[in-house]
Amino acid sequence: MSDTSPEHSRTPGAVVHVAHKRPVRLMHHDASERPFIVIWEVTRACQLVCTHCRADAIRTRNPLELTTDEGRRLLDDLASFGSPRPLVVLTGGDPFERPDLPELVAHGTKIGLSMALSPSVTDRLTRSVLVELRDAGAKAVSLSLDGASAETHDAFRGVEGVFDATLEAASTVREVGLRLQINTTVTRGNVHELPRMLKSVLDLGADLWSVFFLIPTGRGKQLEPLTAADEEEVLHWLHDVSTLVAIKTTEAPHYRRIAIQRAGVDALDDAFPVGPLRSRLRHDTAELLTGQEAPRRPRPPIDVNSGRGFAFVDHVGVVYPSGFLPIAVGSVRDQPFPEIYRGSELLQGLRNPDGFGGRCGQCEFRTVCGGSRSHAYATTGDPLAEDPSCLFQPVLGHGLGGEAQRP
Ligand code: SF4
Repeated sequence: MSDTSPEHSRTPGAVVHVAHKRPVRLMHHDASERPFIVIWEVTRACQLVCTHCRADAIRTRNPLELTTDEGRRLLDDLASFGSPRPLVVLTGGDPFERPDLPELVAHGTKIGLSMALSPSVTDRLTRSVLVELRDAGAKAVSLSLDGASAETHDAFRGVEGVFDATLEAASTVREVGLRLQINTTVTRGNVHELPRMLKSVLDLGADLWSVFFLIPTGRGKQLEPLTAADEEEVLHWLHDVSTLVAIKTTEAPHYRRIAIQRAGVDALDDAFPVGPLRSRLRHDTAELLTGQEAPRRPRPPIDVNSGRGFAFVDHVGVVYPSGFLPIAVGSVRDQPFPEIYRGSELLQGLRNPDGFGGRCGQCEFRTVCGGSRSHAYATTGDPLAEDPSCLFQPVLGHGLGGEAQRP
């Protein structure tokens, strides 16, 4: 793999690839010792009724939610991992339903955590609350955009007017000086809108586009995920446009496999033949974008996966490998988070790709990808099974080593 692939253009799509150092960012610490990122679902309350909601959100707060004091203790435990401390994302439901949110953000910031927020777009998301949270130390806000028009996005979110409100909220997030992340859930229903959503992401000046590949869990069971073949094409298209905005994928770790496969061979037009879906996405992208978009150095995806650098704490303190892998590994009400993170048998299993089933256990990319454990679990009931959402056929086979064979 080349470390510095030369600058060259791609057609169509006005996509320009610029030199990059590494196709995947590796963590600088041992992922079995400390997480890179922890998502805390501070509440399940939310005024929206999104079709794909992982949390099956409800209108009112659960009285059993972690209290402010318990939340502060959780943050203390996260800070106790030491430097580099995990990134902390407060999500929901809608975290803005919690009146103590500024206090939690201020506490996390004071003890050295980098705090980010993932609110729903409701009347609670106002400029003054964003300013208050920024002043409390919040660094970034992520907002969901699941359609390129009011029609599709509002249908997804279950409330009329959310699309326009999201665009307005995104501008406000940037105006008050917070970093903006746009989250998009891809399904069969909205995949053809991706180029138009990309344009919105660029127009909004987002710092990061997080593209989530639907897991049939929660209310997401009502929507149709992409086929593995279409997912492969979308991941290639995302790589095509990764010179325009920083891209991260959720529940598609094989984006890292694609980033590695394409490093150094992008000049060869036929190295990865363009299928019908990617072809259409590229065509639509070329039509929509002016070609004036400044190319940037692609931000390589980071090598984290469920339970391996990543963990999720729900509203009552139960810990999971991710928000889409509903197997509890402990509760912060019974045990400090670091003990759960380091000691859980399941989390240890998720950090050992040699133990994965099927193609994932045989794959030469297993240490840097490992497959979506949530997809494996949702499909087979076994979190260590093969990820059916990936098309790749391993060629090297098992036994070629772990870290030493990292692609
Ligand atoms: S087979 Fe599994 S480990 Fe290999 S690239 Fe696909 S998802 Fe990743």
